[in-house]
Amino acid sequence: MKVIDHYKLDEDKVVLGRYNSPLKTYRQNETQLIPVIPKSLEGEVIYFSHVVNGCHMGEAKTMGRIKGDFYFPNMYKKVKKLIQSCEDCAKRKSPQTLPRAELGTYGVPAGIADLISIDIWGSGGGLLASAKGNRCVLTIVDHFNSFLYAYPVPDEKASTIAKTLATRFFWNTVFFP
Ligand SMILES: [Zn+2]
Repeated sequence: MKVIDHYKLDEDKVVLGRYNSPLKTYRQNETQLIPVIPKSLEGEVIYFSHVVNGCHMGEAKTMGRIKGDFYFPNMYKKVKKLIQSCEDCAKRKSPQTLPRAELGTYGVPAGIADLISIDIWGSGGGLLASAKGNRCVLTIVDHFNSFLYAYPVPDEKASTIAKTLATRFFWNTVFFP
């Protein structure tokens, strides 16, 4: 049988495989005789090479640790498959679910702008645009002193609200009144 030509038993009856592999590290003519890993141990060899020092290395590095030391058919394919199915690697890739803030009652605000409520007024198109093109009014109530603040804004986009809160309310009213 032709297949047998590629394998050999050493004096300890370990099956050695002659690996004329596509791996660039071996020259074509060079005969590499390395232990052939039985099918039942392939997974273990790949897994331990992959998680060495707990590092969960990628395909190339994992393969680098195996080649030259062990041989089994379709090494690349199997390494790739095991890494793709590694649960730890999958967990590292996917974002962790963020802890949710628990719902609760509001405490008493400790100072200015500690607790505010915001609302947008006129967003239904009930207001005529001002000369500056503002169609809505952003209202903010500071629960610390019950002050009401109102800012004309062109629209109710989140970016508009955020910008107005940052540049006009917090910057001009709270930090540098
Ligand atoms: Zn992994």
